[in-house]
Amino acid sequence: MRPAGEETAIPEARLSLWLAEALGPAFEPAPQLEGRHRADVCIVGGGYTGLWTAIRLKETDPSLEVALVEARTCGSGASGRNGGFVLSWWSKFATLTKLFGTEEALRLASASADAVAQIGAFCHENGIDASYRRAGWLWAAVNAAQLGAWRSTVDAADRAGIRPFEEVSAERAAAMAGSPVHVGGVWEASGATVHPVRLALGLRGVAERLGVRIFERSPMSSLSTDGGPEVRTPRGSVGAERVVLATNAWAVRFPEIRRRILVVGSDLVATERIPERIQASGWTSGVCVSDSRLLVHYYRTTEDGRIAFGKGGGALGFGGSVGARFDGTSPRRAIVESAFRSTYPRLADVRVESSWTGPIDRSRSGLPEFGHLGARPDVVYGVGFSGNGVGPSHVAGRILASLALEREDQWSRCGLVDVPAGTFPTEPFRFVGGLVVRTAIGRKERAEDEGRPPGRISSRLARLAPAGLTPTR
Ligand SMILES: Cc1cc2nc3c(=O)[nH]c(=O)nc-3n(C[C@H](O)[C@H](O)[C@H](O)COP(=O)(O)OP(=O)(O)OC[C@H]3O[C@@H](n4cnc5c(N)ncnc54)[C@H](O)[C@@H]3O)c2cc1C
Repeated sequence: MRPAGEETAIPEARLSLWLAEALGPAFEPAPQLEGRHRADVCIVGGGYTGLWTAIRLKETDPSLEVALVEARTCGSGASGRNGGFVLSWWSKFATLTKLFGTEEALRLASASADAVAQIGAFCHENGIDASYRRAGWLWAAVNAAQLGAWRSTVDAADRAGIRPFEEVSAERAAAMAGSPVHVGGVWEASGATVHPVRLALGLRGVAERLGVRIFERSPMSSLSTDGGPEVRTPRGSVGAERVVLATNAWAVRFPEIRRRILVVGSDLVATERIPERIQASGWTSGVCVSDSRLLVHYYRTTEDGRIAFGKGGGALGFGGSVGARFDGTSPRRAIVESAFRSTYPRLADVRVESSWTGPIDRSRSGLPEFGHLGARPDVVYGVGFSGNGVGPSHVAGRILASLALEREDQWSRCGLVDVPAGTFPTEPFRFVGGLVVRTAIGRKERAEDEGRPPGRISSRLARLAPAGLTPTR
């Protein structure tokens, strides 16, 4: 447990370009939690997962007393630092089928695609200016080795009789993404993009209007489970019938959850404003793009004419805390910038203006997991979004609300609930093992970029990595 108050020590404005833009001087944090409070449900964590859960609870039963306790300000975690890709689980369809069978896979993947549409509708209905734009997602290859990374997923969908992906030629992929390095891909129509922080703050506003009591700058210092659960912060507490843990990577403080997820950094850079250059490149549809490496590159254009370019597989967490290495400017800025430059060689003269980093909660399967902490019916959690949480957190809100209300429905009974315990090793093996595997993946992917066959050992070790968007091969 880190010292109380540490979560609030970093100025929010430093955490990402999106936060810097959205949290102007007029921004007023919600009050801190002081004194003793009671609620029907207390949610810990004010990212999308916590906020969607709060909204869902109040929509289901407006009389519920819902409190939300956030360490810093809502959206200061991954929800305020992500790339703003709003994606479905169609890219995980092969894994979903393998884990839960075709019927449940279809149900979950369809629900996730519906969620992308519902987020747009929700923003529209509630006047949230989150720059929601639905132009689909391009799952691309940028070298010969990446071609066909999507094959097992597309084939699984074919077998189930659905076609969420459209194959695109090298020429079309290059035209869509505005750079000739793209040599093929599949396009998935349901994907959208948002301004991540404006979405988070919009949800916070709706939650407040629905009567959710939000406490910010109030890190949970302990969760007491003697008797009914009680969330304690340095200055107060909330005793509740039910507690929902929506703290993403920070949930590794609980040993039970630590076995389920690895904390891995993801890093982003944003260019200066270059709307004319983007226009000239042909990348005008607003499609967001991921390549097919495990240390994924993901990139998009922004409403104000920048390119935001990210790379997965950054810093590795150690033990039960996330730590300051996952905050602020990116320690891997040079690596991410170089990846941007090799993906967009024609933009060699464009300045990178900012960089930032944040933690990803990677599960073994690349899908989130929901459950009851210590098998208690009154403490529920959801973790493991694995870098695809903007859209799926909407589904998570439904699942967690149903679990908190002990409802027997399609959400509480879905395959992602009460998945058998994870298999990640304990420290120091997980950290050291993580470093070895990450180095091997880096070597393998460098060789593939250079058109060389990767070494056998690197390829074998790379297979030990948890799945990302692209299945481990
Ligand atoms: C750099 C980066 C890029 C990403 N890009 C994408 C993308 O383009 N598309 C996509 O789908 N996903 C992306 N993701 C993942 C996505 O952002 C997350 O899956 C999603 O935001 C998860 O939401 P959440 O509410 O579960 O977590 P968070 O937004 O992290 O919320 C958890 C909250 O819990 C709070 N908290 C932690 N500890 C405590 C405590 N003790 N007490 C109280 N509160 C606490 C934190 O401050 C935080 O606000 C990215 C993530 C990162 C880091």
